[in-house]
Amino acid sequence: MSLYQIALQQTNRVHSSLPLSENIQLILQHMTQDAATEQVVVFGRWWFESSTGHMVLSHSAANLLEVTAGFHDSCQQAFSQVTPDTAIPLLTMLQHSPLQTIDCEVKIINAKKGVRWLKVLSLPHHNNPAIKMGVVQDITLQKLALMREKFSFTSSQFLVGAQSISVAVTKVIQLVCENLGWDWGAYWSLSSGGSLEPKLNCCYFWHHPDTDLTAFTEHSLRLSMGAGEGLIGAVWHSAVPNWVEDMGNDTHFIRRHSAKQCGLKSGYAFPISYMTADGRRHSVGVMEFYSRWSRQCEAQLPNLSATIGALVAQTIQRMEQQESIKQLSQVDDLTGLVNRSHFHYLLDNACFEAIRQGDSFGVLFIDLDRFKPINDAFGHDAGNVVLRGFAQRLQVLVQEKGVAGRLGGDEFAILTKPNQKMPDLRSLAEQVLVAARSPFSFGEHQLTVSASVGVSIFPENGWTSAELVRSADTAMYKSKKNGRNVLSFVSDDSCEILAQERSLLVRQLTLEAELHHALVKNHFFLEYQPVFDFSRNVPRLVAVEALIRWRRENGEVVHPSVFIPIAETTRLIVQIGRWVIKQACEDLALLHGQGFNELQMSVNMAALEFVNPSLPYELSAITESLGVANRFVCLEMTESMIMNQADKVVPIMKNLRQQGFKISLDDFGMGHSSLSRLKQLPISALKIDRSFVMGLPFDRGDRAIVRTILDLGRHMQLAIVAEGVETDSQLGFLRQYGCHMIQGYILSKPLSLADLMQSYVGHKNA
Ligand code: C2E
Ligand code: MG
Ligand code: MG
Repeated sequence: MSLYQIALQQTNRVHSSLPLSENIQLILQHMTQDAATEQVVVFGRWWFESSTGHMVLSHSAANLLEVTAGFHDSCQQAFSQVTPDTAIPLLTMLQHSPLQTIDCEVKIINAKKGVRWLKVLSLPHHNNPAIKMGVVQDITLQKLALMREKFSFTSSQFLVGAQSISVAVTKVIQLVCENLGWDWGAYWSLSSGGSLEPKLNCCYFWHHPDTDLTAFTEHSLRLSMGAGEGLIGAVWHSAVPNWVEDMGNDTHFIRRHSAKQCGLKSGYAFPISYMTADGRRHSVGVMEFYSRWSRQCEAQLPNLSATIGALVAQTIQRMEQQESIKQLSQVDDLTGLVNRSHFHYLLDNACFEAIRQGDSFGVLFIDLDRFKPINDAFGHDAGNVVLRGFAQRLQVLVQEKGVAGRLGGDEFAILTKPNQKMPDLRSLAEQVLVAARSPFSFGEHQLTVSASVGVSIFPENGWTSAELVRSADTAMYKSKKNGRNVLSFVSDDSCEILAQERSLLVRQLTLEAELHHALVKNHFFLEYQPVFDFSRNVPRLVAVEALIRWRRENGEVVHPSVFIPIAETTRLIVQIGRWVIKQACEDLALLHGQGFNELQMSVNMAALEFVNPSLPYELSAITESLGVANRFVCLEMTESMIMNQADKVVPIMKNLRQQGFKISLDDFGMGHSSLSRLKQLPISALKIDRSFVMGLPFDRGDRAIVRTILDLGRHMQLAIVAEGVETDSQLGFLRQYGCHMIQGYILSKPLSLADLMQSYVGHKNA
């Protein structure tokens, strides 16, 4: 039977008040033409007569649209299988804008094939203006490919922007629901809660706000699944995705009653796991999606869920890395208290906030008495028991009242919350004394210590963290002098401190004048410390770092750590920095001319130099005048420089990168940059701070930090340089974990230009 006959039969059956126009009859007669072409190219054709609303679908078009071929009384009938949200725009256009070109994407959800996308296009007018004609094409594959790309893109955007796992993961769930036609989605995460047995809890979920799935959501949030328990536990345990085809009647499906109540029918759950560099797989959770349609296993889903799973796992892994770096860099390994650098950071913030709010707060400086004899007599384990025990007691004491930190050795400190009254501070300090006095058990021994406590108060005893700690420290020494196990407040003999401070100021002012003189008289010089690339068999000299020195008139060489801080406070650093850049580029031009023509020059920059918006142009003028390409110049800056004035510094950094300069983050790990922020910075490299390299390969904390930084660098495609490498075992560890750029005394100390050229003749490229 021909299609024409089929169509006519239907016409007789279905139809219809209006007689068929000549146009439609003609189309029906010729509809079968080109059917073979349609099949090969996989598209179908449609015809629409706007005056009657009649529609004809070719065999292929009908197949794609899952309706019968031939005549349809209305376009609603022809597109009856299309989901309403995508059908409405198309139907509106067909019926109300007959002259408009049609280019729509519509969606069909089929229990067997899952979601399919079709493109409905109108073709330019043929010879009969009364009839609109066009094609329909299956674009599911392109759409899925695009969607996978979009998932990667959007999810990495979430990663950058999101401050928390919850925001990132909820957005991914929403993305999947909206694009794959699911009604409810959730993420179950492995809980780190008290019990030994791992449990999965539903942490994040999403459904369209217009659909009421409350009962199912509430049920899910109440559950806690062990390994192998229910669908979630089974998927997590086996790491294999699983379908539920009939949720309401499946006796294995724990949430069947609430699913039935909400009309949810079928769904899919898959594991979220990632692999770490050591080849271990970490199963962190399970994702699940449910639909109110009876859907069956869809061919596309395993692939897509693998992509989604990998992306979500990556997000979670990175967020965890962020947490662990933060943890490692802020917490004292032994006691779990805040460490020295983070305590100072918190104290700085407290000062800043107190100035803004006009508040006051206290700092308690605590030193354990007679701690050393315990260490000497009973060994370090005993010492550690005391330190840990005392830290725990401090933790309990401060709770809501402030923060306790370990400043190092047997020194502790407490920063109190704002506006504590004097009696409260006194009582807290007395409680600290009691906490120290109560014995600590070590095996059969009872170890006793005591504490000396000094208290300083903002702003009376200092406006800055340094001043407050110094005052509290001095008060603490007074306690020690007074026989220990006592507390002292800062008192009048702080006059002595003031005198010391004044003499320091005088020294600083003298140094400042000398620095001025040195700049005028050209008493500065540069040394260059080589950086080697170990990625090939033979280490190659790839860069040098310019390090400034000052030769005093008496011949003494002064190192930058002595004079740079003073130059910074007096703004002299801007002039010194400019001298350094010029000299370094001049020497680089010379090195390139001598055959070291791929060598890169790193120059340290100070914060003040970086707030000048014309810096990129001024530096370009210098390099251009010397014939040095900007890509060979790398500016080293520290995290704190950026984080303190991000809004000013980041645009200048971007401009510098556009001009071709490289930027590296020096002393990385010491600052407080958030990783999401880091990801947005236009940097090309990270330098692992010497203080982390120092503990390699034995210190657990340093090992973890360095490996995490290396992982991070790889993720962000940044070059990583380890500095301050002094021993073979440090070098071995770094190379083993993929850090190939090495700088440190083990390879070379900083050298004069002449010595550098002479020592590394063999490293010339030409
Ligand atoms: P930095 O940029 O982190 O430079 C590395 C410092 O570590 C240098 O100290 C270098 O001599 C030292 N170093 C390198 N390898 C090792 C090692 O294996 N063991 C040990 N113990 N030390 C190693 P230096 O030259 O005293 O510089 C100290 C800091 O002064 C620099 O730290 C940098 O922040 C600053 N600085 C140096 N030159 C300049 C400059 O021209 N401008 C500015 N603004 N700062 C500079
Ligand atoms: Mg440096
Ligand atoms: Mg450094």
